[in-house]
Amino acid sequence: METILNIKLKNYTKKMFKLIRLLAIALVIIFGIALIKYRVAYKVKINDQEVGYVANKEEFEKIIDKEILNPDDVRVAYVDMDVKPEYQFTLVDLEETNEEEIFTKLKESSVTTYRAYAIAVNGQNKTYVNTQEEAEKAVADLKEEYKDKLTETEISVQETFTQDFESLGTVELASAVSTMEEELEIQVVYEKEKKAATLDGVYFSVKPVTGTITSRFGYRQATAIVSGNHKGIDIGAPNGTPIVAAADGTVTYAGWMGGYGNLVIISHGNGIQTYYGHCSKIYASVGTTVKAGDKIAAVGTTGNSTGNHLHFEIRKNGTQVNPQVYVYK
Ligand SMILES: [Zn+2]
Repeated sequence: METILNIKLKNYTKKMFKLIRLLAIALVIIFGIALIKYRVAYKVKINDQEVGYVANKEEFEKIIDKEILNPDDVRVAYVDMDVKPEYQFTLVDLEETNEEEIFTKLKESSVTTYRAYAIAVNGQNKTYVNTQEEAEKAVADLKEEYKDKLTETEISVQETFTQDFESLGTVELASAVSTMEEELEIQVVYEKEKKAATLDGVYFSVKPVTGTITSRFGYRQATAIVSGNHKGIDIGAPNGTPIVAAADGTVTYAGWMGGYGNLVIISHGNGIQTYYGHCSKIYASVGTTVKAGDKIAAVGTTGNSTGNHLHFEIRKNGTQVNPQVYVYK
């Protein structure tokens, strides 16, 4: 037998179910409308600045990884992206996602470093190729080709990094080899000249002054001031013209010495010395290490001299040799 209470309860439960059903339908309609107009997306921030929305974070990250960070390009060494996008889950109007714009922003903020291979002569890059293999092949071939002609020149592969790949101007292997052959022919001439200007390992690479040779080595002077053989060469130049070291060495004398007037002596090792006489001024001091081309004094006419000139000697174990075998040829 159903009691009144039971009947009431049943009606009440029925009403509840009806209400819940209505609520569920309402929610479905609301969500339906929401899903037509809105969808889940990610708000993106770069450097704390909102730059827009992407629909799919994972997909977007994949594209960045493939297109910006790890492009399919053998020349790329690495990519620095100095900003990192931050994502925030949100609902967004369908029209509002702007993946392309955000992608462009990220690409612009990234710096791509490329790798190329240089072929170098004595550490100086002369030409560039795209691969290590090509560079090594070129260097091996050139070393073989020049092994008898070049003894002091080093040909090497240099791995090079650049952010402006186009500026390197990489070339094909054959083109690189022919460029290098031109460079190495210059080097052949240089080595030959250097050898001819070297006395016992001392390379006279620089003329101490630029001027006219007014008296040669061994030339018998017709004046009373200098008698007998002339043991150096005289180079006429205006008073005050800088005199530079003819080779690397150490200053071992800087001062007055009889007929030489103001004299600088540089010792170059292996018993080789150079003398610079009749100077108006001396800039070098004893004990100073000098490089070829360093200013040591100024042209003058001190000591036994009748006009402004440099008296230049090269001595080997104390005996003068003809400087024109090595400089002022
Ligand atoms: Zn002289």
